[in-house]
Formats: sequence, C-alpha cells, structure tokens
Amino acid sequence: MNKHYSMVGHRIGRLVVIEELPSVKIGDTRASRVRVRCDCGTVKDIWRATIRNGNTRSCGCLRAERYRAQNPDGLNERELAARRQRRRQDRLKSSGTDPAAAKLARMKW
Ligand SMILES: [Zn+2]
Repeated sequence: MNKHYSMVGHRIGRLVVIEELPSVKIGDTRASRVRVRCDCGTVKDIWRATIRNGNTRSCGCLRAERYRAQNPDGLNERELAARRQRRRQDRLKSSGTDPAAAKLARMKW
C-alpha cells in the first residue's frame, strides 16, 4: 500500500517537506498536499503537484525579499501602484498632453 514514495525530508529550494497530508477531493480528482517548512521558519501546506512542477521554492519569503530589495521604502503594492500612477500623470502633464500645459509651453516660445 505504498503507492507513492514519501516526500518527507525532501528539499525544494528553501522548503523541506515535514509531513504528507491526506489527499482532498476536488471535483472528480483527488489532490494531495504536503506540509513544508521554509528556511525562514514558516510552516505551510502546499499542493504536492506544485512541488513537482518546480514552481514553488519558498513560502513566499523569497519573493518578499526580492520585493524589499527593490522597494527599500517598504511601500505595499497599493502604494506602489499609486506612486506609479502619479508618475504617469506627471509625465503626461510635462509632455504637454494636457491642453492647458501645452498652451503654457507654447506661450513661453
Ligand atoms: Zn520562507
């Protein structure tokens, strides 16, 4: 009754499988999950399939770390989006797409 080999102890990137969880029924198929512990200490349940396709390598902390490196101010996604939006509007204004600004620019000449 040992249909699949145990993944306990298996390491994928930062994650180590610490427990196999009972499979769950999703529609007509069954999917199994494993409990993993990340090097950062986070314990998380993930789909066995996601491990096997190699897309999952951390609990999300890798992405968070990369994100922090690019974003030292610690802004969240929404703040960053708002900042990008403001920059876009500023660019629009200074590039003269705004009729009033374009008029002003022409007056200078
Ligand atoms: Zn982690």
